[in-house]
Amino acid sequence: MKAKKQGLNTICTHVGEVPDDQFKGAISPIYLSSSYQFMDVDVKRYPRYFNTPNQEYLAKKIAALEFTETAMIFGSGMAAISHMFLAFLKSGDHIVVQNTLYGGTANFIREEFPKLNIEFTFTDGYKVEDFEAVIQPNTKLIHIETPSNPLLTITDIKAIAKLGKQNNIVTSIDNTFASPVNQNPAQFGIDLIMHSATKYFGGHSDICAGAVAGSHEHMEKIWHVSKNYGGSLSDFTVWMLERSMKTMGLRVKAQSKNALKMAKWLDKQSFVKTVYYPGLKSHPEHKLAKLQMKSFGAMLSFELIDSINSDQFMKQLQLIKPSISLAGVESTILSPTQTSHALLTPEQREAVGISDGLIRFSLGIEEAKDLKQDIKQAIKTIQ
Ligand SMILES: *Cc1c(COP(=O)(O)O)cnc(C)c1O
Repeated sequence: MKAKKQGLNTICTHVGEVPDDQFKGAISPIYLSSSYQFMDVDVKRYPRYFNTPNQEYLAKKIAALEFTETAMIFGSGMAAISHMFLAFLKSGDHIVVQNTLYGGTANFIREEFPKLNIEFTFTDGYKVEDFEAVIQPNTKLIHIETPSNPLLTITDIKAIAKLGKQNNIVTSIDNTFASPVNQNPAQFGIDLIMHSATKYFGGHSDICAGAVAGSHEHMEKIWHVSKNYGGSLSDFTVWMLERSMKTMGLRVKAQSKNALKMAKWLDKQSFVKTVYYPGLKSHPEHKLAKLQMKSFGAMLSFELIDSINSDQFMKQLQLIKPSISLAGVESTILSPTQTSHALLTPEQREAVGISDGLIRFSLGIEEAKDLKQDIKQAIKTIQ
């Protein structure tokens, strides 16, 4: 009989611990060796083969969290995404991606794929019909992002998985924003689940890493490509990541709670024009988000009313840090136009609804009342 699957925080804490048979330490030992015995062994280990002890065990934790057979850890989220794409796309193939895509991924596709003769289509929207409409006979991969960055649009994961299966196309998702705490796309039939582990996996704004989870069959393909390109993560950082992930369940649940509280509060303030958060009943895909997410995540975006300059507002914040990136235990705020989506043209940004005044808010674990207080004092100072 198969053992019953353990709960979230038990997996976070215990799955993927490297056993310390020699000294019986309570946590994983760290193996920094880049050279291992090759004779009379089952596995020939080497860091760039993604199979050092720390890499191998952390992959077990990620696979358990995403309900997949296996996983791999990379040097960054972009390394994870690029190796995943290149494993399933060759010259003459075609990929469908959504228009509201992480800026770095959109840029990778636009800059690198023409050189490789890989065709791509950005959808007009984020609904299943938008993806279906642009499938071609040579389409080999459909890649989605939900909730999307920075406007938190929600795409129907189950319907995309079905669309892929019907057309014999592999499906992948960037699950960074939700994290495995809030969303497990493999349970809806998605083939490959990718993460920027720089974000919620790390959670303390001090690690850059990436991950992909999937079946043995699919991950074998990614492994073959990845060992050639060489985007593996140092074992020291792998060890840091395993340590960080022990608290991921606790962190992300607290952060998501804060996001819901702050979204509801911001929505009521006279200085706020619009709030984008799937947990609000007014969000166009609130019902869908409820079906496929456990809670609504810890990211939200908002626009201030036209009379308030968003740069001035961000400069006056004292607790919430205007910083690049997201998902740390500290709350951060940024302008997508100046950071994550700076490489898009103003026309490309306008097409996907990113205004210059848009503010993206990554909720930390602080007390919501202190975050509200900080926002109120910033608005008061500039008004
Ligand atoms: C940050 C991010 C990435 C890229 O990850 P890096 O670790 O910076 O390479 C990809 N997708 C999303 C949604 C992200 O937020």
